[in-house]
Amino acid sequence: MARYSGPVCKLCRREGAKLFLKGERCFTEKCEIERRNYAPGEHGRDRRRKESSYGLQLREKQKVRRIYGMTERPFHNTYAKADRAKGVTGEVMMQMLELRLDNLVHRMGFAPSRPAARQLVRHRHFSVNGRIVDIPSYTARAGDVIRVREKSKSIAIIKNALDSRRGSDLEWFTVNDKSMEGRILTVPSREGIPTPVQEQLVVELYSK
Ligand code: SF4
Repeated sequence: MARYSGPVCKLCRREGAKLFLKGERCFTEKCEIERRNYAPGEHGRDRRRKESSYGLQLREKQKVRRIYGMTERPFHNTYAKADRAKGVTGEVMMQMLELRLDNLVHRMGFAPSRPAARQLVRHRHFSVNGRIVDIPSYTARAGDVIRVREKSKSIAIIKNALDSRRGSDLEWFTVNDKSMEGRILTVPSREGIPTPVQEQLVVELYSK
């Protein structure tokens, strides 16, 4: 399945929630969800339709997939891996999504959004434990150190992202703004992942 290349704010409007795909703009009144919080298209304002349980599961799956910027197949593969692993499938799936390198680069404040993080990783601006990694889906582990490469430390998008970093570190990683590196302390628990989704609906959808 090809990667979506249309207007990303439409995705938020379709899901009826902020997916934070545009960085700083998502926190301003220019955000499309603030201005037009209804689905795109001719019947977008029609809220009378009641979603079936399948519809709800499908929408939640699309929401999670879009938040993490994944196409259907890799997303389903992540679910399948989580299903085979020990533990609660939904929680394991969320842990796997959180430990993707593109997500971590964004969470640690080196990029304003996940799509931007994805591009920065692809352009080889980061190393993991001293080795350059340019694969956005790379799965990091507890103890890994993610660094902005020396020659990339002056890049405006990274510097600006760090300057306007919102909130504090999550409990499962630390970031050193000066040396531009972050360390994963532990695999996050579900409570430590501030992504407001109901992953159980995704599990129900895929396990049919
Ligand atoms: Fe979504 Fe951000 Fe666009 Fe708002 S500005 S609709 S949060 S991508």
